[in-house]
Amino acid sequence: MDFLRPTTWADALAAKADRPGALPVQGGTDVMVEINFAARRPEALLDLNPVRELAGWDVVDGRLRVGAGVPYARVIDELGGPLPGLAQASRTVGSPQIRNRGSVGGNLGAASPAGDAHPPLLAGDAVIEVESAARGVRMIPAAGFYLGVKRSALEPDELIRAFWAAPATGPQYFSKVGTRNAMVIAVCSFAIALHPAERRVGTGLGSAAPTPRRATAAEEFLAGELDWERRGPLADSAARRFGELVREAAAPIDDVRGTAGYRAHALSVMARRTLTWAWNDHRAGATGREAP
Ligand SMILES: Cc1cc2nc3c(=O)[nH]c(=O)nc-3n(C[C@H](O)[C@H](O)[C@H](O)COP(=O)(O)OP(=O)(O)OC[C@H]3O[C@@H](n4cnc5c(N)ncnc54)[C@H](O)[C@@H]3O)c2cc1C
Repeated sequence: MDFLRPTTWADALAAKADRPGALPVQGGTDVMVEINFAARRPEALLDLNPVRELAGWDVVDGRLRVGAGVPYARVIDELGGPLPGLAQASRTVGSPQIRNRGSVGGNLGAASPAGDAHPPLLAGDAVIEVESAARGVRMIPAAGFYLGVKRSALEPDELIRAFWAAPATGPQYFSKVGTRNAMVIAVCSFAIALHPAERRVGTGLGSAAPTPRRATAAEEFLAGELDWERRGPLADSAARRFGELVREAAAPIDDVRGTAGYRAHALSVMARRTLTWAWNDHRAGATGREAP
């Protein structure tokens, strides 16, 4: 197996164009497991760790551009303020070792329906920046990025450069059910983001369908139901209906981690619960940004 080690983004794109079969590796927390278990035998590994362009984040025209190689530990430490939902999700990923190595870009590359970064990226309207040497940059909204189980819109000659997201303007929450408290793949997960300026709600469901997905009917229902103007109390009936609509948006399966019925139920509970937390924060005047 060849080992390619570009040191610049341009060289990485050239290497991927030259060898579309080369498998990118960032933290390696998915890739190395697959290789160790002989589930994958790529012709070459394309190590992206030396590519400095992937390792940082920036604010461009008021939006965050977060390099694909930024690990969860840094999302937690550095981006908890502007991206609280993603930071909460990052805290639930694996162990400290996995959070030090594993990256949001790797989660996107793997495109597992159970990946923890996906629900907050969906709820926060993130856009994925991908690039190829031949066709240049494509900006793919998260909602259009996931195409099937572990399949994404990424073409064989493309690499993920970054994701873009607006800093939170309202409360964001992430909730995950696992078979135990830590080091666990989600049985199912849910993210909510309130966008008060636009009187809009974002959602993201994980481990609840072949791909991570939004619950658009639930979002639309809630946007019309919430008393944005006076920040009035949340009606129980509205929270319940929101939970039902989230459950209806899911298409879960039975597997080793849980049954479809349990997942559907848990999603409606998480939806109600996170909505209650988020709306209470909004009523209390919180911007949604966590203390750094
Ligand atoms: C013990 C353990 C616990 C875990 N717990 C969790 C968990 O709780 N939640 C969770 O979501 N995941 C978990 N994972 C899975 C894994 O840690 C995450 O999916 C992580 O985000 C992968 O990031 P990485 O940088 O290690 O990716 P890598 O393993 O390097 O790559 C993952 C995939 O993305 C591709 N890729 C990487 N970078 C790019 C790029 N720039 N452009 C294009 N493709 C790219 C790779 O080719 C590969 O297909 C766990 C893994 C282990 C081993």
